[in-house]
Amino acid sequence: MDTKIVKAYGTASAEADLNQLNINRRSVTAKDVEIDILFCGVCHSDLHFARNDWGMTQYPVVPGHEIVGTVTKIGSGVSKYKVGDLVAVGCLVDSCRTCNNCKDDLEQYCPQWVGTYGGYDKHLDTPTHGGYSETIVVDEDFVLSVPGNLDKAGIAPVLCAGITTWSPLKHWNVGKDSKVAVVGLGGLGHMAIKLAAALGAHVTLFSRSTSKVQDGLALGADQVIISTDEGQMASVMGNFDVIIDTVPYAHDLNPYIGTLNTNGTLVVVGYLGPLDPMLVTVPMIMGRKSVAGSLIGGIAETQELLDFCGKHNITSDVEVIKIQDINKAYERMLKSDVHYRFVIDMKSLKD
Ligand code: NAP
Ligand code: ZN
Ligand code: ZN
Repeated sequence: MDTKIVKAYGTASAEADLNQLNINRRSVTAKDVEIDILFCGVCHSDLHFARNDWGMTQYPVVPGHEIVGTVTKIGSGVSKYKVGDLVAVGCLVDSCRTCNNCKDDLEQYCPQWVGTYGGYDKHLDTPTHGGYSETIVVDEDFVLSVPGNLDKAGIAPVLCAGITTWSPLKHWNVGKDSKVAVVGLGGLGHMAIKLAAALGAHVTLFSRSTSKVQDGLALGADQVIISTDEGQMASVMGNFDVIIDTVPYAHDLNPYIGTLNTNGTLVVVGYLGPLDPMLVTVPMIMGRKSVAGSLIGGIAETQELLDFCGKHNITSDVEVIKIQDINKAYERMLKSDVHYRFVIDMKSLKD
């Protein structure tokens, strides 16, 4: 198959910094859309993947799954998009289309889902490469339409940070009378606050950091609880219907279980791996409480969220950076010094 060489940023090993490299993009097939990438958000998963935190990275890796761009070419069979359209690509670029999950618009749970990076590109027989690049070619069924009224950099994080928090909020029926708590104020956490508040919920932020109290309230939280303060934690025992936990590393979930009300659910979206310390089941049994997990969201649900953001004028709070500053951004992300999502202006890759 014909390919085109494009500039990208990635790394060849877990230890090396990200650097400029070249990758191959396929020529558009009948159902493909070629996108000139304008902005790409920086997710903590990009860092986990580049540094092989999950032990599954194939190198070289080109991260990036919060992509906003303009359509530059379409295949002969494309019906949903035309050249010039403002579009987006999130964490998924393909799936089997036939399993029950795919039929139920839950492509993210398809056993054969293809990640935007680190997935398997069946056309090129290589790993997929993400949005830290000039262009991307994606099947139109995995391309999303971006409302024209929103800031183009600000909407990019909706494609992962937004949908990852929206999907559990919707699944657990968060609405006007819900009491929601969010653990961790980073990329996912700040979107969770904005979206839960927009759904009408009473929102609490759990943060380790007293320095984030004002920001948490400004983002839409009704209160901020410092998770290391036992008195503050005791004040919210038995309170929440849903907790969205965005913390990227192993941490103690037990103190949060106590803050769920009867039938409440703590949804882990951040940390992937064995818990340490282990879960104590007593409060779960005594209050029919659940601990659950959730992965991004399906294509239809992501479009629903983009439309919701367009209607309610919701975007992410972003710090726009040049691609050349990506390694510094990763170091700041590790120190939780992000306010509240880095987004790369991909013009910087063309310079
Ligand atoms: P982020 O911007 O770095 O935010 C994470 C926040 O968690 C930090 O700002 C900090 O908030 C808190 N935190 C960090 N380290 C901590 C620690 N050791 N103990 C307690 N709290 C800590 O990261 P993100 O981009 O939001 O991503 C969060 C996690 O979600 C990552 O692991 C990412 O891989 C994962 N993720 C999952 C999905 C999914 O589908 N399930 C999708 C996207 C991302 P405070 O300073 O307020 O405490
Ligand atoms: Zn992500
Ligand atoms: Zn499937």
